Amino acid sequence: MPFPHPILIVGAGPVGLSLALALARAGIPAEVFEADAELNTQIRASTFHPKTLEMFQEWGVADAIIRHGYKVHRLQYWERSPRRLIADFDYGCIAADTPYPYRLQCPQHIATRILKPAVEANATGKVHMGHQLLDFVDCGAYVTARFATANGLVERRGSYIIGADGTHSVVRKQLGIGFQGKTYEDRFLLIGSDLKTSDLLPGAAQVCYIFDPQEWVIILNLPDIVRVVFRMTDNENEETALREDNLRMRIRRFFGETPPYTIKAIQLYRVHQRVADTFRMGRAVLVGDAAHNNNPSGGMGMNSGIHDAANLADKLQRMYNGEPDGLLDEYARERRQYAIESVQLYTDRQYTHMVMRAGEEREHRNKMLFDAANDPVKARAYMLRASMLEDRI
Ligand SMILES: Cc1cc2nc3c(=O)[nH]c(=O)nc-3n(C[C@H](O)[C@H](O)[C@H](O)COP(=O)(O)OP(=O)(O)OC[C@H]3O[C@@H](n4cnc5c(N)ncnc54)[C@H](O)[C@@H]3O)c2cc1C
Repeated sequence: MPFPHPILIVGAGPVGLSLALALARAGIPAEVFEADAELNTQIRASTFHPKTLEMFQEWGVADAIIRHGYKVHRLQYWERSPRRLIADFDYGCIAADTPYPYRLQCPQHIATRILKPAVEANATGKVHMGHQLLDFVDCGAYVTARFATANGLVERRGSYIIGADGTHSVVRKQLGIGFQGKTYEDRFLLIGSDLKTSDLLPGAAQVCYIFDPQEWVIILNLPDIVRVVFRMTDNENEETALREDNLRMRIRRFFGETPPYTIKAIQLYRVHQRVADTFRMGRAVLVGDAAHNNNPSGGMGMNSGIHDAANLADKLQRMYNGEPDGLLDEYARERRQYAIESVQLYTDRQYTHMVMRAGEEREHRNKMLFDAANDPVKARAYMLRASMLEDRI
């Protein structure tokens, strides 16, 4: 039976907006409530994997997002010292598996600015900015939620409430759902600039992971900026490290002398690996960062959140057409299992590769990656996994 009230979605990040779009396109009333007055502009995720692009295609936004991004056709792994290319994967090896055999680098805040109007273009989709969820009550047959706005308190009734409200989720906290895991010791220092990395590192692809036990480096080229991410250990002083002369020294230490360049962005962040004890409690459901956090090596955090949204939208649509509410338990089970057994394993292993120290382990890693890149069958399997399409192997 159709829901008597809209689905209330808390948070207009990429995950909340994706869910709202999928629901609104299916004719299901979905309302997003975002605490901030404007969509976030922070430098955050930038990698969209092929599976996510397939979902965007289904929701009618793939072409617009692809137009704003950079198509990356090769993925490389390097050793920093001595500097050498270990493995060079070509996305062409999965061309028969997906219409999007590449990885798109596009800032998250550009994608959300395409998703929001797409939600609002549907009669059943609404986005309310400047609405901060304070609390909610699960009344059994529906939920009521209270939001703080510039014009005072607003109360809304919904059939379900979806916590797409990020790592510090109010929905998750109010339900008292545990969020166990670990915080990595290293911090990630991102320096955005107009450097031409392919000139400075001959043979380098647009996305490179450069292994080193002391200071690994990740290079991600986006349309108008290159992000170079460095490992920053816990014992480095933040204020000193962020001084412009020290940022430039870090760049020089890695690339050598460079032509003049402009630093356009700096971001220092901590990385966590956590999973909520459950993704569903009564009429409340968690998606995206509210449900799971992982190491960004491999670019799977935002992507897996958008895949949560697609899975949940499918279940809600089936419930809207008469199937039982138990489908939400299936959602919770499937996506929690995927977060633990797939995303966390993969991203943690990627991270371990970046800092691998011992000679024998290191040689084994390099051989495994070299062999995978140079054998068509293994390369296809590797790239399907890296593209979150492991179910097609
Ligand atoms: C610095 C940084 C770099 C990152 N880099 C990568 C990367 O390279 N690759 C990758 O895959 N991932 C990366 N991530 C993670 C990625 O950005 C997240 O996985 C993604 O943003 C999750 O989307 P989300 O919609 O679940 O949550 P968010 O994007 O956090 O959105 C949550 C929204 O909820 C709103 N909100 C919060 N509380 C309330 C409330 N009480 N009421 C109403 N609204 C509320 C917030 O304002 C926000 O807009 C990075 C994250 C950070 C911080």
